[in-house]
Amino acid sequence: MMMIDIHAHVCDRLAAITNGQPLCSLSYGKAKLGNKPIQFFPPSFERSNSPAEMLIAHMDHAGVDKALLMANPYYGYHNDYISESVKKYPDRLKGVAFVDMIKGESAAKELADLYDNTDLFGFKVETDSTFQCAPGRHMGEEDFFPVWDVINAYKQPVFIHLFTDRDVEDLLKLVKRFPDITYVICHMGADACFKGGRISGNYAVLLELVKKNPKVYMDTSTVPVYYDEEYPFPSSTAAIRQAYEIVGAEKLMWATDYPGMLNHATYQQLVNMVTRHCGIPEEDLKLIMGENAQRLFFSK
Ligand SMILES: [Zn+2]
Repeated sequence: MMMIDIHAHVCDRLAAITNGQPLCSLSYGKAKLGNKPIQFFPPSFERSNSPAEMLIAHMDHAGVDKALLMANPYYGYHNDYISESVKKYPDRLKGVAFVDMIKGESAAKELADLYDNTDLFGFKVETDSTFQCAPGRHMGEEDFFPVWDVINAYKQPVFIHLFTDRDVEDLLKLVKRFPDITYVICHMGADACFKGGRISGNYAVLLELVKKNPKVYMDTSTVPVYYDEEYPFPSSTAAIRQAYEIVGAEKLMWATDYPGMLNHATYQQLVNMVTRHCGIPEEDLKLIMGENAQRLFFSK
């Protein structure tokens, strides 16, 4: 079965700001957040970075064919390293573009420039880190429409990590305002839906959106973190199974959120979680594990 991981992170070093504090690489998986050392990657990540070679080795080990490299302000701005990685492994990797949308018009220009001059595609939004430095602002504001206009004009997909009720409202508005954009909701609705192992009302709203709108999809990654559970993740696999029954196999895509998720399971277990423990029939698994992603992101 072809397998494509649509959510993996690489960086040559951590270089981020989160909650107003700098986050940078130490060693053996540790990072420094402000003055404080924290365990960020597993200890086997000697330089506390996430090289493309390490991702490829994990993919080879678990028989995963391809991956989408996803940006996040929590790792830092790494368009250059992501682009370099895609050039090294053009048959295995594609990279998602990333700009700071708070800059509005100039972010839009930067994004168009990335589409014109690099092989990066799509756009990633992670609302928590993006708006930490701009409290009160939010993804659906008109000031940010120039960014969405560029995404729309270049026919690019958007990958969105939602955090708040406001984010869910914004997504519903954006889908109406920009109906031709392809939207992928990261981590099955993430923090906007799963809080301390409890599912909020937003989850039903998002499942309905994915089910009804042919341009809106979900990725299956990171759910075990929200349930705080161990492999084989009984609550998470039940949630993925339920999402599959509601939205259908055509609208779900497998992903790992590598390497952060290696703190919770091996890469192979992140494959098995969906292929073995969700009770999804083989024909539908093929769509979820790779064929949907191949059609949407790797066929042009
Ligand atoms: Zn991620």
